[in-house]
Amino acid sequence: METKLRMGMVGGGPGAFIGEVHRKAARMDGGIEIVAGAFDIDPKKSRQMGAALCLDPQRVYADFNAMIETERALPENERIDFVSICTPNNWHFPIAKAFLEAGIHVMCEKPMTLTVAEALELKQLVQKTRKVFGLMHTYTAYPMVKLARDMVRQGDLGAIRKVIVQYPQGWLARAIEKDGQQQASWRTDPRQSGAAGCMGDIGTHAANLAEYVTGLTIKEVAADLTAFIKGRKLDDDGSCLLRFNKGAKGVLHASQVSIGQENNLAIWVHGENASLEWHQEHPNHLTVDTINAPTQIWKRGNEYVGKKSPAAARSTRIPAGHPEGFLEAFANNYCNFADTIRAKANKEKASELATDFPGVNEGVAGMKFIDAVVKSSKANAAWTKI
Ligand code: NAD
Repeated sequence: METKLRMGMVGGGPGAFIGEVHRKAARMDGGIEIVAGAFDIDPKKSRQMGAALCLDPQRVYADFNAMIETERALPENERIDFVSICTPNNWHFPIAKAFLEAGIHVMCEKPMTLTVAEALELKQLVQKTRKVFGLMHTYTAYPMVKLARDMVRQGDLGAIRKVIVQYPQGWLARAIEKDGQQQASWRTDPRQSGAAGCMGDIGTHAANLAEYVTGLTIKEVAADLTAFIKGRKLDDDGSCLLRFNKGAKGVLHASQVSIGQENNLAIWVHGENASLEWHQEHPNHLTVDTINAPTQIWKRGNEYVGKKSPAAARSTRIPAGHPEGFLEAFANNYCNFADTIRAKANKEKASELATDFPGVNEGVAGMKFIDAVVKSSKANAAWTKI
């Protein structure tokens, strides 16, 4: 009989954004329970969070090092199976490294590290420790994105010519970091956020989505990054031309100063035979166009979707017409991550469907993308290799 996987968390304290999303999503399908955490940089707040989650106070820690030490000393059937890292970016690398070295599987938030060098080191460590490593690029876990990927894989679009991907938001259109807004404060600080602001925070999601759907790799970028807010040290807006392998071309734009935009991630993929279009704010539909034919709208949850894409069917919980969204996408990554951990524990090979979640390679790609767009922009949008 399978038992629930035991999850620990670092980050996600009171008032944090994404930690709570992880907790809700991980528990959605009943195969994971949260048992431990070092939830906040402030130990008092970590205890407060642990109490709110009704956790055993003995397993709510002041920091991640204490968590590793105590959890490792517990019997194997009690200690955490994996940790979810939901801290600001600067902490991802040291925490992931420490847990991997302690023999604990890791689910990490993006961008994976602060630098390319750290990303490459983490990749080596994942290979050496043979632990399961997930990276929470949420958007490739939506069923209709998996359907889009499978349409491209099955050749429905023909060779890809052009990819347009965007991720505009408007929440940083004012200097809210100066008022101490928690999420804005660290995102606009290079020491905590990394070399890029908007491009690291959401541009990487757009780049990851483009590569996942098309199966192509971004090889070169020409980027123009701007900090529109006076005194802001990192970009809050960026436009970027892309050159993929196999000759495809693309345009990526991301912004956090586009007033009125919320999370308007969207992608258009144009092939020699057909085009497709998906919008994160309307995630249950995928639009497909072929030459000289009416527009098709594929709708999540229908049998025809599952026939075309078993990965989309596996990522769907409720019948067509009842909307699914962001939480379910997180849960899909957790399901696949957990199934891969279980297969490993049972000394079985995880299925192709189960291993369909972003990991350390996508993390390295994201860090190389950030590095290249920053370099390109500094060189007046010169073409820069990834
Ligand atoms: P946040 O500021 O809301 O929360 C960060 C939390 O981490 C806080 O509780 C803070 O106290 C805690 N923390 C900081 N350092 C810590 C440490 N050393 N030990 C323990 N806890 C620590 O930030 P957020 O918006 O939730 O973002 C967190 C991460 O999630 C970032 O890397 C961000 O890029 C990522 N994120 C991803 C998505 C997605 O869609 N995948 C969405 C939002 C944020």
